[in-house]
Amino acid sequence: MLRGLFGGAAAMALVLSAGLASAQDFSAERISEGIRHISADDFQGRYPGTDGERMTLAWLQAQYEDMGLQPGGPNGQWLQDVVLKRFTPVAGAASASWTGPDGTVHPMTVGTDITLRAATNDGKAAIENAGLVFVGYGINAPERNWNDYGDIDVRGKVVIVMSGEPNSAEVAERFNGVYPTAYNSGAYKADEAFARGAVGVISLATVPATDAGWLRGAQFANRQRTLTPGAADLEFSGAVNHDVGLAWATAAGLDMATLGTVESGNFTAVALDGVTLSVAQEETIDSLTTHNLLARIPGTERPDEIIIYSAHWDHVGVGADHVSPVSTTEDNIYNGAWDNASGTIGILEMARQIKAAPQPERTIVFAHMAAEEMGLLGSYGYAANPVYPLETTVADINIDMLPLSGPTRDVAIFGLGQNTLEDDLATLAAAEGRVITDDRQPEQGFYTRSDHFPFVRMGVPALMTWHGVDWDEGGVEAGQAAWDARFGADYHKPSDEWSADWDLRSAVENLTLLYRLGLQLANGDEWPTWKPTSEFGARRAASDAARQ
Ligand SMILES: [Zn+2]
Repeated sequence: MLRGLFGGAAAMALVLSAGLASAQDFSAERISEGIRHISADDFQGRYPGTDGERMTLAWLQAQYEDMGLQPGGPNGQWLQDVVLKRFTPVAGAASASWTGPDGTVHPMTVGTDITLRAATNDGKAAIENAGLVFVGYGINAPERNWNDYGDIDVRGKVVIVMSGEPNSAEVAERFNGVYPTAYNSGAYKADEAFARGAVGVISLATVPATDAGWLRGAQFANRQRTLTPGAADLEFSGAVNHDVGLAWATAAGLDMATLGTVESGNFTAVALDGVTLSVAQEETIDSLTTHNLLARIPGTERPDEIIIYSAHWDHVGVGADHVSPVSTTEDNIYNGAWDNASGTIGILEMARQIKAAPQPERTIVFAHMAAEEMGLLGSYGYAANPVYPLETTVADINIDMLPLSGPTRDVAIFGLGQNTLEDDLATLAAAEGRVITDDRQPEQGFYTRSDHFPFVRMGVPALMTWHGVDWDEGGVEAGQAAWDARFGADYHKPSDEWSADWDLRSAVENLTLLYRLGLQLANGDEWPTWKPTSEFGARRAASDAARQ
């Protein structure tokens, strides 16, 4: 009801103020047809490195060529290579021991006492008698007045970290309450340790050696692992159980009461004086080359200032191992129609609409990212090796799974409260009687789970919209139930298939908002910023001079 009242004039005023001569006209029919095409069985779940990749990217390239867009990849190419290095431990290559202050050497059993990986750039680890430092959660968050490291020097040392982030009642609000922050992730902790000169990171499990979960995890620790492009090049990473941690602390004569304050905000790192660790590990490396596809519309006035629309083209292939033969007896093709043929076509149709508008002042890039389902690897590959400098990248607008419902009053976004893109979006949404909300699922940690996040970690403001549930017809009651049913039934299942029955009205209204947002940015001189409470502002601020 509210929408009808707010539509019309206010929306038109905003459209005009954004300098658009022509209104967009997203076609639900064409979106549906595109999704149907690249999620068909013969694309075999679009797994990186397969025929499904080749067919998907060839089709996208042909679409962009027909539209008259320019190649947006490196050296005037459509494709950006993303070389994924995959590591597997060499059987019997791992060894570990620790030495106490009295000189006694304690051999360790790899896989029981300690897990060890050298899944970094050369696949080899060889550490002799490195000092150990317990760094609590291993978090340095100046904007939260939190620094576990204090002024301790960890160069050449191994840091021992606890997983997760502080969540005691006194400090939970400083860490976003129920929503996790980026400090929660192992990748962040490794980066922080590496930047400080540490040679290895060991996660301290809070369970004893006999714990079933620890033993199971230790077994799985040897599985093939794909290196995230740009990840910290530590000598090794690993984990120890609580018994080992306690033995080290006791040998170092540490006061356990001091260590108990990691949640209080008053903890700083402590060296385990006199205790050292030696480890060796070796891994075989094979590589898989996959590709991001990039198209662009160059800016007329400020071509070096870039707005990126991104979406991953890949999905998880066929069968549990991703590359099984197609079964003749059961459906084992993960078509990924929703995830993320829908976002892929969303970006393609965004390009079509923007190409039909007057050429923007800033450059707009349409980035189809690879290997998102393997850990955002195509986007991390781009962020580690950007085609356009990140400091003059204005924003990334990411689409992963278009909403499939009738119109909604709410526009859910990941990472509410992070940056000013949400304020711009809120203004555009308000003109249509719509409101911005959080993603409603804090336990999912969605903010770190799609291709916007590698941009975010590098300081580029990014936005990802999600599914609204407050249906114009039926409200939250109908919308939430329908969302729960669809997500439960189809997410990452072979049943995620195109259907002629999909209601794409919500997709069209969200695409329209994101179109307006992108063109507003592309025809203005705004640089979106991080909010003071965001963990990513400092990274962006380091390149402020490039945006004067
Ligand atoms: Zn996805």
